[in-house]
Amino acid sequence: MKMFKNPVAKIGDPIQGKIITPIDAEGENNPRDKVKYYCPCQNCKDPDRLLVLSRSPKGNYFFKHRSGFEHEWKPMTLLHLYIQEYLAKENIILIKDFNTKNFKVRKQNISINPFMTTIEDNCHEDIRFDVTVITKSGLKITIEVIVTNDITQQKVDKIRKSKIPTLRIDLSQFYYENRLECQSDPEFVKSHTKGLVEDIANQDWVQTPSENEVRKHFEFVEKKDETGWGIVALIFGVIVLFGIANNFQGSTFKSRSYFN
Ligand SMILES: [Zn+2]
Repeated sequence: MKMFKNPVAKIGDPIQGKIITPIDAEGENNPRDKVKYYCPCQNCKDPDRLLVLSRSPKGNYFFKHRSGFEHEWKPMTLLHLYIQEYLAKENIILIKDFNTKNFKVRKQNISINPFMTTIEDNCHEDIRFDVTVITKSGLKITIEVIVTNDITQQKVDKIRKSKIPTLRIDLSQFYYENRLECQSDPEFVKSHTKGLVEDIANQDWVQTPSENEVRKHFEFVEKKDETGWGIVALIFGVIVLFGIANNFQGSTFKSRSYFN
């Protein structure tokens, strides 16, 4: 399999732009001077993040950086990018069950307002989130996608301090099992994004929603209810046991007849 240094570009905008392959870019037949392609890498050496669509002598199209700005392409970006792009279009996200102090929250679909989804949102002081969504009910949830590097402890601390509900989607195992495809094959990656996002085994919370947020924005069961029933069951159990013990004692006394 051929390794492309720049397998994809973002069209029109380096962050919000649609992901495009060189073949698609050529197929769209855009007038060269009007359409701009951008390097999706956050650490691009080119301050304008520009990519140029070029054609090899053999007739294959590819993206290249302007001269002097070539850089080592980071292999995680392809899987990471497509997951971000997938999440950006979603209007429902399946959330795994979780517990807070007072609530049991079942696995559930959360409706998202896709027009308000942001990629690489950095409007929170010095925390950049991979994806930020706003639910239909108005709750902000941020999502971190893990491919090769886990969230640093420093970032975890910042997130917890911010109290913004933050979901972590860990794709590191999938990446290590399919490293070559994840690095070089846009079609392979694209065909797995839906399954990877919907597989809630990949999810956990860095920061769970607060009690108030659960009450307002999720379907939940109050733990108190269960404790209540537990107490009822306990009392019932004690009564039954006490009854048995009493009976037993009664018969002991009867048979031994100490006091007669
Ligand atoms: Zn670049």
